[in-house]
Amino acid sequence: MSDYLDLLGLPFMQRAILAALFTGLAAPAVGTYLVQRRLALMGDGIGHVAVTGVAIGLLTGTSPTWTAVVVAVIGAVVIEVIRERGHANGDVALALLFYGGLAGGVLITGLAGQSGARLQTYLFGSIVTVSVSDVIVTMVLAAVVVLVCVGLAPQLFAVAQDQEFARVAGLNIRAYNLLVAVLAAVSVTVAMRTVGLLLVSALMVVPVATAQQLSRSFRTTLTAAMVLGTIASVGGLLLSAYASGHARVAPGPTIVLLALAGFVVAWPLGVWLRSRRRLQRPFPVVETAAHQEIDQHPHDHGEDCGHVGVPHGDHVDYVHDGHRHAPHGRHYDEH
Ligand SMILES: [Zn+2]
Ligand SMILES: [Zn+2]
Ligand SMILES: [Zn+2]
Ligand SMILES: [Zn+2]
Repeated sequence: MSDYLDLLGLPFMQRAILAALFTGLAAPAVGTYLVQRRLALMGDGIGHVAVTGVAIGLLTGTSPTWTAVVVAVIGAVVIEVIRERGHANGDVALALLFYGGLAGGVLITGLAGQSGARLQTYLFGSIVTVSVSDVIVTMVLAAVVVLVCVGLAPQLFAVAQDQEFARVAGLNIRAYNLLVAVLAAVSVTVAMRTVGLLLVSALMVVPVATAQQLSRSFRTTLTAAMVLGTIASVGGLLLSAYASGHARVAPGPTIVLLALAGFVVAWPLGVWLRSRRRLQRPFPVVETAAHQEIDQHPHDHGEDCGHVGVPHGDHVDYVHDGHRHAPHGRHYDEH
């Protein structure tokens, strides 16, 4: 045990913990929007394409992190364009891109005279190879991803939820879709050293699926997914380091299995919560005085605002501070 604590104090371990922390925050943040748009496997595709980026870095002797960022972003934009066009054989085009990315990466790595073991640290993550500059790049890129995902949450949510509605509201759908694709590409690269390119999609998707079991509101799901992702990422790293005292265990698989364990625990809880909600419906109809108009309302009620919605005649009231409010034209009515 004291050996393990010594290990945690080593500089390479502290670098790895920092990288895992930021990866665990950024990957599920983007993943929330991908899951909402039913693009759960987009991160996986970008990860396959990014293998070629790593190989180009190894071949040219430049930083594989930066070449991976460039190739992943190009790949993500191509994926988004193919997806947007919605051709009948769009999925074949994507498959060609993914297999080409992976096979090309392995081939170029060989041409560069690098061993498969070197590439494997990028495919499944590696705690011992994270350098100081890797950690700094990881932290900066992850911070940008998290800031955009949280800061632009209302716009990104609207676009992901209902493209038609967002278009009518004057949002540039295409720009926001491309932004999410680029954010996904950046998170894939960020997660490359910790989780690895082939498993990164799991860290983008599994914490979100777990959070969805416990929450119905979008904001709570986003926050919970980031917390769960961080726990899985740092926890998985610490577990793999502990196990490495006896055998060499890559952190990526440990992180993914820990995230999956979280889902297995949350799933029955989600089933129970949903059945409980069903039992609470229908809401008792309480006849109240006539609608009272209020001018100032600090908050826009909507489907995902987190307040309980009560169907009431031709509209929905929202329970808010013990009152029931209903949006009505440009004002709110209180009941
Ligand atoms: Zn509300
Ligand atoms: Zn009402
Ligand atoms: Zn209200
Ligand atoms: Zn009114």
